[in-house]
Amino acid sequence: MGELRRWDRLCIGGEWVEASGPGAVDVVNPYSEEVCAQVPRGDATDAARAVAAARAAFGPWSRTAVEERAAVLSRIGDGIAARTAELGAMVAEEVGMPINLATMIQVGLPVMTFSTMAPLLAAFPFEERVGNSLVVREPVGVVAAITPWNYPLHLIAAKVAAALGAGCTVVLKPSELAPSVAFVLAEIVHAAGLPAGVFNLMTGEGPEVGEALVSSPGVDMVSFTGSTDVGRRVAAAAASTVKRVALELGGKSANVVLDDADLPAAVRATVTSAFLNSGQTCSALTRMLVPRPRLAEAEQLAAAATADYVPGDPFADGTRLGPLVSSAQRERVRGYIRGAVADGARLVVGGADPPAGLDRGYFVAATVLSDVRPGMRVEQEEVFGPVLAVIPYDTEDEAVDIANDTIYGLHAGVWSADPDRALAIARRMRTGMVEVNGGVFNPLAPWGGTRQSGNGRELGRRGIEEFLETKSLQL
Ligand code: NAD
Repeated sequence: MGELRRWDRLCIGGEWVEASGPGAVDVVNPYSEEVCAQVPRGDATDAARAVAAARAAFGPWSRTAVEERAAVLSRIGDGIAARTAELGAMVAEEVGMPINLATMIQVGLPVMTFSTMAPLLAAFPFEERVGNSLVVREPVGVVAAITPWNYPLHLIAAKVAAALGAGCTVVLKPSELAPSVAFVLAEIVHAAGLPAGVFNLMTGEGPEVGEALVSSPGVDMVSFTGSTDVGRRVAAAAASTVKRVALELGGKSANVVLDDADLPAAVRATVTSAFLNSGQTCSALTRMLVPRPRLAEAEQLAAAATADYVPGDPFADGTRLGPLVSSAQRERVRGYIRGAVADGARLVVGGADPPAGLDRGYFVAATVLSDVRPGMRVEQEEVFGPVLAVIPYDTEDEAVDIANDTIYGLHAGVWSADPDRALAIARRMRTGMVEVNGGVFNPLAPWGGTRQSGNGRELGRRGIEEFLETKSLQL
């Protein structure tokens, strides 16, 4: 790494073409604070070209045999696996995630997503008899996939693999903050032999090209992952064409630690979740609810676990905490920490001051706040930085109410020595996903949120369904 990566063409209709939009978008390395890559600044004309290419390719692709699609997707999975080291380093450089984690998670998961498509498609019930009807599942059409920067290739893979597997064609618009992996994916897709126009890649500023795709009558479905604010705008812009909109948005997820739980294990798991990718994970468990009598003990355990998160160079051995993605994000997170203290929260460890010993990079220290009360901004809003809010509660019902009382409904956790008790609380969470006693992420289980965390579901069999229409043929 270290050299400027210049991607100067968009991938439209199977060709690498010049953008009609002017100039380039700079990508900044959040550790060195230097420009590390450039991508084309596509515009609405490019968006229209990409949509037209995807439309032209849709008919033939939608009629291919499922086995044929599965075979191409497996080859794409192999192609990603073959470039693992390069892709992991790109994510570490553009996002700031420590290289080992970036390689394992941010490349390992996409390989799995593409590679598991073949068995999922082979078992998928595309047709079903209901009385005198044949119910068939058909691809929705042209999909605009719009993705964020925090898990750039994983979130692209979750959409693209399932959409292509379902028989849809795709226009991908990755985040302008970490776009390089999408260009490598386009190269891999070509090498895998996907027909021209089935996968198209364009870059540019979200409000311009993103909105052009979302409002285009040539797009049948928008699959969007990003912030709740932009998700609202996407839903509104899509409404005039009544297209399907799948939204995967922000979160403010709570981990409810019950009074009989293994507190050290629960606290360690919460800290690990809250600080993964410097807290820039939509499903991060950023609120830890603990029984009031165990608050002091929980704080001590959290402080001890946080000591492992020494900020540093994402490429250095042993770094657990990289920088935040941008200076704007760093200032936002510092503002939340200062605001929380002004609102009466108590700083256990970390804080808004720049971490010592680092003279560059958009770092924020891993921070634990305690005595956080329901309703405080830091308790209600997505911070998207390494900030854990510890909230004491008095009764189990109160804990459930606090956990559920935000606009979000993405993820939650519950810890108890009694699995039945934990499961009963998990069922009361108004979220799309719940981790019970640290149950691990399952890449084949449905992923998605409720309420203002969105309405989409990705991954596994449910992820394929997202890109299908249902048609009844009365016989
Ligand atoms: P963002 O909303 O700023 O941007 C997401 C994408 O939308 C980018 O590609 C951006 O260019 C594009 N965009 C911006 N304005 C647009 C517009 N007006 N119309 C169409 N597209 C537009 O989000 P971000 O900062 O890239 O990502 C962080 C957010 O994503 C966090 O809120 C996080 O919780 C959320 N997220 C959710 C999930 C999930 O699965 N639920 C996963 C990862 C991230």
